Amino acid sequence: MIKHLCAKAGCPNLVNKGERFCPEHSKAMIFCNYPGCSEKVFVTERYCAQHQPKRMFDSKRGNPNQRGYSSRWARVSKQYR
Ligand SMILES: [Zn+2]
Ligand SMILES: [Zn+2]
Repeated sequence: MIKHLCAKAGCPNLVNKGERFCPEHSKAMIFCNYPGCSEKVFVTERYCAQHQPKRMFDSKRGNPNQRGYSSRWARVSKQYR
C-alpha cells in the first residue's frame, strides 16, 4: 500500500493513497457550503476550489474600466449598490 503525507501543511502523518488527510485532520473536513456540492474542504475554507466566494471571480473579471465600461456606466452602476 502506497502511503503519502497528510495534505494538511506541516502534518507528518502518513495516509493511504486515495485519502488526503490523516484521521486527525479528516475530522476537520466539512462538505463545501455550496448547495448540492459534495466536495470536502477544510472547516476554515468553507468552499471547494470551484465554489470559492465570489470575491475571487470579481478579481478575475477585473474592475469596470478593464471590462470596457465607460466612466458614466461606472457612476450609474454605483447608484444601484
Ligand atoms: Zn494530518
Ligand atoms: Zn463546492
